[in-house]
Amino acid sequence: MNYRSILNMASKELKENSIKSFLLDSEILLSKALNISREKVLINLEREINESQILKFIKILEKRKKSEPIAYILGKKEFWKTDFYVNSNVLIPRPETEIIVEEAIKIIKNNKYYQLLDIGTGSGCIIISMLKEIRNCKGTGIDSSLEAIKVAKTNAKIQQLENRVKFIHSDIDNFLGYKYDMIVSNPPYINSLNLSKLDKDVQNYEPKLALDGGLDGISEIKKVVKKSSKLIKKKGTLILEIGSRQFDNSKEILEKNGFYIQKVLKDLSKKKRGIVSIKI
Ligand code: GLN
Repeated sequence: MNYRSILNMASKELKENSIKSFLLDSEILLSKALNISREKVLINLEREINESQILKFIKILEKRKKSEPIAYILGKKEFWKTDFYVNSNVLIPRPETEIIVEEAIKIIKNNKYYQLLDIGTGSGCIIISMLKEIRNCKGTGIDSSLEAIKVAKTNAKIQQLENRVKFIHSDIDNFLGYKYDMIVSNPPYINSLNLSKLDKDVQNYEPKLALDGGLDGISEIKKVVKKSSKLIKKKGTLILEIGSRQFDNSKEILEKNGFYIQKVLKDLSKKKRGIVSIKI
């Protein structure tokens, strides 16, 4: 069997299992099984695949047929300017979150910011991306999941940032930190009732802890803001990722806790996805 026929078979099977990106996914999985780039697969479609490669391919194809996300199957996801190691203990980094990173970097470059905190760090993708761009800063990432902290530490090691970033296993209520110049957070903000409406990939595989924002989607945001108002320096910046539905509530909570809204960040579809606020 050659690459072309196995790709045809695989994409047909994925399609039958309602995987929308069936073609692309088949190509990515075949390149994983063959341990060559996707481009190399595509320019060698007539090349024969051997038996052990077929077995390897079928094993990962079965996972994808059950909707396991590609990022977990590959063990990595591209975010900002690099690949991050991921497993099912962490949220898969989303392109929307890059909006937060981009804005944070701009602000740090314009201010004398030094100590940064990432609340609910997951894979560590936000804080690690920031530290890679700005050399004189130090960062701390906290997460209530010990397994997530292990993933974040692995990423710090891969990016050779272990001397500038600390990852601490702690939930926000029990965290005893000092004063930070900037706090960033992408807290869980999906309302519990909507969790069942998410794609199967997300619903069945990504950690609920990283998604579930309580009945109104706001309870974790509230915790993060309240604690941040104690952990942040005067004139420090808090950048939050939110769902557009949480905007009004989040604004109110921020103002109640001594922050003023400096900027609202929108995603490509013009939805409100982030709030930059300053501690008065
Ligand atoms: N900070 C991580 C990210 O943005 C994890 C966020 C989370 O688990 N809610 O991907």
